[in-house]
Amino acid sequence: MNIHESEKIAGILEDMGYSECSDEKDADIIVFNTCCIRDNAEKRALGNIGAVKHLKKENKNLIIAVVGCMTQQEGAGLTLREKYPYVDIVLGTNNLHELENCIVRLRNSKKKSVLIDTNDRPQVREGERVYRTSGTNAWLNIMYGCNNFCTYCIVPYVRGRERSRKMSNIMDEFKRLLDEGYKEITLLGQNVNSYGHDLDDGSSFAGLLSEISKIKGKHRVRFMTSHPKDLNREVIDIIAESPTICNNIHLPIQSGSDKILQLMNRHYTRDYYLETIDAIKAKIPDCGITTDIMVGFPYETEEDFQDTLDIVRRVKYSSAFTFVYSVRRGTKAALMPQIPPEVSKDRITRLIAEQNKITKELSGLYEGKVYEVLCEDKAPKKEGYVCGRTDSGRLVTFKGEDKLIGSFVNVKINKSQSASLFGDIVED
Ligand code: SF4
Repeated sequence: MNIHESEKIAGILEDMGYSECSDEKDADIIVFNTCCIRDNAEKRALGNIGAVKHLKKENKNLIIAVVGCMTQQEGAGLTLREKYPYVDIVLGTNNLHELENCIVRLRNSKKKSVLIDTNDRPQVREGERVYRTSGTNAWLNIMYGCNNFCTYCIVPYVRGRERSRKMSNIMDEFKRLLDEGYKEITLLGQNVNSYGHDLDDGSSFAGLLSEISKIKGKHRVRFMTSHPKDLNREVIDIIAESPTICNNIHLPIQSGSDKILQLMNRHYTRDYYLETIDAIKAKIPDCGITTDIMVGFPYETEEDFQDTLDIVRRVKYSSAFTFVYSVRRGTKAALMPQIPPEVSKDRITRLIAEQNKITKELSGLYEGKVYEVLCEDKAPKKEGYVCGRTDSGRLVTFKGEDKLIGSFVNVKINKSQSASLFGDIVED
């Protein structure tokens, strides 16, 4: 979501005549697009803002702007201006479209801006200019905000309530992206499964996916993120039947303990979650299932943690984003008793070890088989090699020229190493 928002910021700047530069010393404007989902992300953003102070001294005309989730927290905009007086523009998540005006005002009258709109249902904007940086893949927002209020999460406070884009606008953008040559489109939303609930025209995520699956051609569609309470069987059926919608579902479990899931306000039980996983595996046997898991949530006991390990072993995720719970001011969980950091550290280490074992085991199953891979980029630090993903979302590195980027190739996997697969192109 943040990467795509940065593309929109770059789109506004490109429209104004700015172009990308590779060295910050050459920049006329630096925009920090911040995240506050975890304490670390916030600290890193503040550290990065602090690190450009000297550039402002060297170039008095340099414009520094800070936007994104961090600025939307209560009082954050003014605190930023006080602690970092060299920052010229601070914009909340609902004020991004005002960036151009703020820059013009600053250039013309040296006036700085702090604009934080606290409306939790701001208007959905259409026709935004996007400077896409993601190669063969294009991100496509289908909705914004979240209504779920998981007790650990700051997102509903800084991103507002759910607002869906009209299906016709999404379909137009989808077709335009295909016309522009993108081979993979990822539908984005904090909880894509509740797409359309706020519209009064009967739109739903299943309906949107169904329309998208009718578009013929050689391309792929992914989506993120799904909420387990809302991922319904209709969506699973559409994925199973559609050749373009990837067999790849990201389904955050967060915890395997019913007690913790309830404290997190997740609105599902481990049994309900496992039933959904069974339904996915029955309809889409080769589905790559990934997840987010948090350890160290308030009140988590060793028994609760064992329930999480049990889910990991049962589901066999192809990969998992694992986190230690991070206190977020203003959320309900911040007021709960916190568990000692050394306990969380021990649990995250054991969780990662368990998941790594499973990832390795699943990677081995790919060896000797041929998969269609969308070649996405040059392989990092491997001259003469390129990389791409299988339909199930696994990364594959193989020998090939840059001209393959953007095309589909068949690759025989001959080696696996943890989450990475290596292979050779084979003829059809
Ligand atoms: S579903 Fe929960 S974790 Fe996800 S964005 Fe909404 S509140 Fe946060």
